[in-house]
Order: sequence, then C-alpha cells, then structure tokens
Amino acid sequence: MGLTGIQIFKLLPKTNCKECGVPTCLAFAMNLAAGKVELSSCPYVSEEAKALLSEASAPPIRPLSIGSGENVVKIGGETVLFRHEKTFVNPPGLALLASDLMPEDEVNARLKKFKDLTYERVGLTLRPEMIAVKNESGDPGKFESLVKKVKADTDAALILMSEKMEALSAGVRACADRVPLIYAATDGNADALANLAKENKCPLAIKGGSIETLSQLSDKLTATGLKDLVLDPGSRTLRRAFEDQVFIRRAALIQKNRSLGFPTITFPCEMTKDPMKEALIAATFVAKYAGIVVLSDFHGESLFPLLVERLNIYTDPQRPMMMQQGIYPIGNPTDESPVLITTNFSLTYFIVSGEIESSRVPSWLLVMDTEGLSVLTAWAAGKFVGDAIGGFIKKSGITEKVKHRRVVIPGAVAAVSGDLEEELGKDWEVKIGPREAAHLTAYLKMGA
Ligand code: SF4
Repeated sequence: MGLTGIQIFKLLPKTNCKECGVPTCLAFAMNLAAGKVELSSCPYVSEEAKALLSEASAPPIRPLSIGSGENVVKIGGETVLFRHEKTFVNPPGLALLASDLMPEDEVNARLKKFKDLTYERVGLTLRPEMIAVKNESGDPGKFESLVKKVKADTDAALILMSEKMEALSAGVRACADRVPLIYAATDGNADALANLAKENKCPLAIKGGSIETLSQLSDKLTATGLKDLVLDPGSRTLRRAFEDQVFIRRAALIQKNRSLGFPTITFPCEMTKDPMKEALIAATFVAKYAGIVVLSDFHGESLFPLLVERLNIYTDPQRPMMMQQGIYPIGNPTDESPVLITTNFSLTYFIVSGEIESSRVPSWLLVMDTEGLSVLTAWAAGKFVGDAIGGFIKKSGITEKVKHRRVVIPGAVAAVSGDLEEELGKDWEVKIGPREAAHLTAYLKMGA
C-alpha cells in the first residue's frame, strides 16, 4: 500500500523552499502520493525518509528517456487508465524501421522521410522521433555502420535491434552518447544484455513469450539493479497484443504490480504487410497503451493522422490549446492591408487564419492572449472586451506596420466596438466581422 499525502508530508523537511518546483512541501507530498513527481525532485529528504518513502515515491509505470539533445523521447510515467480521469503525460514515440539488409538507396530514402515528414498544427510541430535500427544481416560490422549512419544523418532517438550480442555491443558503442534503447533481453541473453545496458547507462527492452515470462524476466533484471526497462510481451496479433497492453497497464496501475510497471514497445510492422492495416493497428496502440510504436515505413497519409491522434489523446483536456499572443502576417501584407484581431484559442486562430488564406487578401492577424478562450467565451469572461482589446492593439506594434487605423473583429458582439473605439480614440474605425467563419472569406474579398 502506498502512503497518503499527509503521511508523506510528515517525512518531508517542511521548509517550503520551493526547489522541487511546487510552492509547499504539502503540495509536493500530495503530488508524490499521486505519482506525479519523483522523490528525487526534493534534494533535502533524509536517507531514513527516503527508505520509508521508496514505495510511495515509485511511479506505477516507470518514466524513462531514450535519446539525447533536443530529441529526447520520454515514455512511461502514466498514472491513469483513461484520459478523462486526468491526462496521459508521455506520448508514445513513433519509430521507423531501418534494416542493415536494405540497399543504401532505401536507407537514404527512409532517413529523408524521417527528416521531411514534419507538420505544423495548432502552433506545434508534429514529427516522428525514433528510428529502430535492425540487424537482419547477422553481421555486426554492417549493423554498426548503419547505426553510425543513422546517428550522423538524423537526430533520431535510436532503438538497436539484434539477436546477436556482438552486434548489439558494436551498435551501442557507436551511439552510447545518444542513449539508445537496447532490444531485446530474453531468457537466453538477459545477463549479458543487463551488463551492456548498465555499462552504457542505456534503457533495455525485454521480450517474453507471455506476460508471465515477461514478468519473471523483469524481476530478474531489476534484481541486478537495472531500472529503465521497456516491455515487449511478444504478441504479434492485434487481439493478443491489445489484450496484453491493457493487461500490463491495469496490472501496473490497479494491482500495483511492480514487475509490469514499465512502458511498453509494440510492433505493428510485424503484424501485417498491408500499410493501411498497419496504420490502423498503430492507431490502436497510440490510444492503448504503447510507449513506443514501431512502423515498417513512414507514409505521409498515415503518419499525419497518427501524429494528430497522438496529439489529441495526449493533450490535457483541462487546458485549452493556445497560440502565442502577437502579430501574424498572412500572405505578405503591406501597410494598407486589413488588420483583424481574434483570441489565442488555437481552434479560433486556425479557423480565422484559414478563412483569411482562402480569401487571398493579405492581412495582419492580431492574436490576443485570452487564456485560450474563444471569442464569445472570452468576451463573457471579461477577457476580450473593448478596453482590453484596445490596450492590446496599442501595445502590439501594429501601428508601425500599417498606415490606416481600421480593425476587424470577426465573430465578436457589437458591444465590443463602442468600448474599443473609446479606448483607441476617434482615429480608429472598428468593424465587427461576420459570426460565421465561412462568411469571413467573402467579407474580406468585398474589401473589409
Ligand atoms: Fe519541501 Fe523539499 Fe519541495 Fe523544499 S524541495 S518545498 S523541502 S519538498
């Protein structure tokens, strides 16, 4: 049984020094009890308290990192079964397969796809992060060369896959500073791979023929002092693999089963040869509950929906998606171009900017911080009202970009304009744009 927040609080220093990132020791204790933070975030816990708190402080699914630099993939650390309970925190890494049996042209094409397939959406860059380098040739030298090439040409977080100890050692030597995931320890090689992982401080994947053998292997490896494990239950049919994912998550969260308290890796690439089916299988594991999804290849038409699905599932439903406040030029506007203003709720921004783009009327779009609320909600909350909008327009710097003094507010209520004109002064002309986004295009074309 874990300790309650109050029980944990009694063991903390109670200085409220804030170094752990929260204002009080009590708040830290509550977060620790909920599995949201690690005990190591507080540098002042005594050794005695650490020993007592070890069980309570261990998250039900261990968080771990693969990769280095800006492209570190964090997986695990989940504390709920369902997104509506709280939020999922670490989105699964999407990995592309590259084999040392592939011709060089094919490898180059894949690495190019890995780098090119990035997308902008709701102000975020969506991209895959991982490459699984597979030793199919059996030749350690070939494998090492491919690892070096992938490392040199991309910033990918790497998964090194081989059944040969010699090849894995060569691969890890070539990219240990990139903190790769070593795949995979089995009954036969667990001791040797545990040493390799410990020596190089790399996470280790373990593969079992069933949940039971996986669990035993996990116990054996954690007893050697390894902490960062990734689980592969070995199932390669959609039904079995899906059941295993759900079983592992439930065992870790509900039964507090420490042996299965690690993130998982899934292989849609080994479950079908049909790219469409593979994408659908991957989509299933993005939702439940993969830490890593390995795909046989990347295709824009299936990768993009997977990235969007992942974004939607791993977005905190209690926090609206927001744009940065500022001036957004659309289509090379000049000092005569229209000025529009809207809120920083991402959906509002994308609807309004999309309509401006459709109109082909180059424009300046001002985005005002309303804490992610849409136009009418922000108006009702007093955040997108005349005097606040006027204050923002004056400070925004738009008057240095246009000669005129006209501003359009799409979808606002008429009451906004009176206060706004008063705030801005009589030089300004304020227009309320159409409520229906689809009418904004025609409105701009008509010379708003
Ligand atoms: Fe309390 Fe430790 Fe956090 Fe300081 S760092 S506020 S002592 S829990």
